[in-house]
Amino acid sequence: MKRRKFIKNASKFSLAGLISPDFFNVDKKYSIKKLNNYKSPISICTWDFSNANSVASEYLENGQSALESAVRGASIEESNAQNSTVGYGGAPDREGNVSLDACVMNHFGDCGSVVAVKNIRSVASLAKDVMEKTPHVMLAGDGAEEFAISQGYKSEDLLTNSSKKEWMKWLERSNYKPIINIENHDTIGILCIDQKNNISGACSTSGLAYKMKGRVGDSPIIGSGLFVDNKIGGAVATGMGEEVVKTVGSFLIVELMRQNYSPQEACEIAIRRILEKEKNKPEFQVAYIAVNKNGEIGAFSIHEGFGYCLYRNKKNRFYKSKSFYYK
Ligand code: ASP
Repeated sequence: MKRRKFIKNASKFSLAGLISPDFFNVDKKYSIKKLNNYKSPISICTWDFSNANSVASEYLENGQSALESAVRGASIEESNAQNSTVGYGGAPDREGNVSLDACVMNHFGDCGSVVAVKNIRSVASLAKDVMEKTPHVMLAGDGAEEFAISQGYKSEDLLTNSSKKEWMKWLERSNYKPIINIENHDTIGILCIDQKNNISGACSTSGLAYKMKGRVGDSPIIGSGLFVDNKIGGAVATGMGEEVVKTVGSFLIVELMRQNYSPQEACEIAIRRILEKEKNKPEFQVAYIAVNKNGEIGAFSIHEGFGYCLYRNKKNRFYKSKSFYYK
């Protein structure tokens, strides 16, 4: 039967009550094993951002929503001048402009995103404002900046003296090559489950150091840098954004969890999906973390060196992630 005819018939039969509601219930096989000792809230973030995770966990313990907690956690790294991949002090593009990307997604499935924003440090919060205060999902460049100013955000130069110095050194190097984990990848992706057991997430980055002007990676792209489904769980990415976008990594992980893969299995499959196309050991890094609604965790990266912070059962700890390549 031709597709259009099938759909027409399906909706006719459905209206007539001939198709059971289960026909459209793609989640019906989904079940997650209860973790014995798990109790919300929970917060998990990429890398060793334990301050960010601990601030998120304080908000969660105080009864704040998963979304508010995730944004507050991300804002710690956005204001951390030592972190050269997020917010204030982030590495600039080739022309010396710091431009930031961020997104958020809440437990209703609503999302907001900002791309290529200059002069505003709290871009995760700005993405939340786009979601909550505009009829849109995504604002870019000048438009995002003007919206930020209209909402009372401070406009400031995000290039610090030390990131300027590093950029100038980079300009002098002729055979520059990005180094895995050290120079280029420290995006904060954070997933929180609040006391009501609702899940939300945030992702914030200055992107690839010394990127081309206007380059946008995975971090503000819903489904790539971040995806949340309150029935299932959530996932976030860090690393080479181009590779994450090509495989819509975070969405893939959540959909795999929907098919009953554990968060760990789902992260591993998503990394393998990227590696399938590579003939040789790639020189780029990609890493994912994921959590399902029962507090099961997954983390996997291409190369060694990735880790994540997990707040669960009142403890905030750093864990090393498993990786596809290891010594
Ligand atoms: N994923 C970010 C991007 O490609 C970079 C990173 O994680 O550091 O923009």
